[in-house]
Amino acid sequence: MPKKYHIHPKATPLDLDYVFKFKIVRGENCINCGKCSKVCIYQAHKRSESDPRKMADPNTVVCKNCFRCIQECPRGALEKSLDNGFLTTGGSYWKPDMLISLWKQAEDGNVPVSGAGYRGPFTGTGFDSMWTDMSEIVRPTRDGIHGREYISTSVELGRKLNHLVFGTEKQLISKVPDTVDVSLPIIFDTPIEKLSPHIKHAMVKAASELNTFVIMPVVDITSEFEKYCDNIIPRLAATEISAHKDMLQKARILSIDYDDVLLKDLAGLMEKIKKVSHALCIIRVPAVKDVEFTVTKLARDGAEIIHLVADYRGQELNSPAGSGSRHLKDIIRSVHQRLVEDHIRDEVTIIASGGIGAAEHVTKAMLCGADLTAIDLPLMIGLGARIYEDREKFLVFPEGLAKISTATVTQRMINLMGAWHSQILEMMGAMGIREARRLRGESGRAIFFEEIDKDTFGKLF
Ligand code: SF4
Ligand code: SF4
Repeated sequence: MPKKYHIHPKATPLDLDYVFKFKIVRGENCINCGKCSKVCIYQAHKRSESDPRKMADPNTVVCKNCFRCIQECPRGALEKSLDNGFLTTGGSYWKPDMLISLWKQAEDGNVPVSGAGYRGPFTGTGFDSMWTDMSEIVRPTRDGIHGREYISTSVELGRKLNHLVFGTEKQLISKVPDTVDVSLPIIFDTPIEKLSPHIKHAMVKAASELNTFVIMPVVDITSEFEKYCDNIIPRLAATEISAHKDMLQKARILSIDYDDVLLKDLAGLMEKIKKVSHALCIIRVPAVKDVEFTVTKLARDGAEIIHLVADYRGQELNSPAGSGSRHLKDIIRSVHQRLVEDHIRDEVTIIASGGIGAAEHVTKAMLCGADLTAIDLPLMIGLGARIYEDREKFLVFPEGLAKISTATVTQRMINLMGAWHSQILEMMGAMGIREARRLRGESGRAIFFEEIDKDTFGKLF
């Protein structure tokens, strides 16, 4: 049995301005009696340091919305209301609730629990139109986070053989290709925005601690990252290989941006890589219309790992949302199906990214057919970044983040992955799946709203 994989979260609060749902305001009629500071066990109410006769502004960040202070204030001086920042942050996909949930998970590494049951809509778009079959959730002490049975979340990257060939003497003739293990079905990708050096450092350190990888533009990998080479996947164009020979020599995996030339001569590229490095090769393919054709051709030609990249909402690239563009889940399903029909699904590794914003999206992407996922924005949101889906500003980091130590930023990324790891374990336990690699394409464990809607009402309407 493999060694049990553990992530060690540690409460790592940031005293920065970030998105929260409600704000508490202390009104002018406060008589500074201090009762609210006694009843709030989270210490959201404290006396002012400069003048202890007065109360300081409430600290909304630590508030857990129990409403006790509001009920107990003898003057009715406290008011809780929806925060304006909450209402204006996020966009069509990255809703404020998602941002807050990611922030909290990065804060303490705990599984988010609302405690009041799920009161949201029955179905939605994208991953929300898919449910998982948790019918095996019968043995909570045996399975899940606290279970005694080991559930493995590790997956393998690389080309695999369809079958083994043995000689007349029963000796193995097939050459088994090299693969690389990651302990989580998640690798990190770097968002387009210019990241400060300490965030990049934190990503790499967190990846190293979690036994996973960070995909980084090759030009960003300066000498200070050298000791983390084992956990960095340099990303570059095929034409840049010779210019970065030294770097590629040290890499275990590299990522090449897709170009139409690769459809005609993938073997040429692999040959070129082999001359400078033993690294496995990811082909990073934009998830555009008809991407199935590109993926199947590359897989047939011997691609080891293919990374399907949708946009930040998980939508097909180059097609405006609402114009019939597909969501990542449908793209993965279609690509997976085509590879199965071509009898080459088992040979190639598929990474999916774009719009993965919660632990359940990882599991769902895998049930649709991905071997693993790549994430970028959740790591940034865990640091308090806000998304505005605006041409002028898209990702905005909180003021003061530059002064936060790399160790703190790293721990928040580890916490977030700790919380996701626990949720993936819970889902796998409830589905009766003990190895993450068995999630791939296990669509029998998923229910797709469009399909049951069609089955149930299609004949009537
Ligand atoms: S309990 Fe009400 S009146 Fe007393 S300090 Fe708090 S806000 Fe002010
Ligand atoms: S609502 Fe509850 S947690 Fe929030 S400040 Fe008041 S007492 Fe504290």
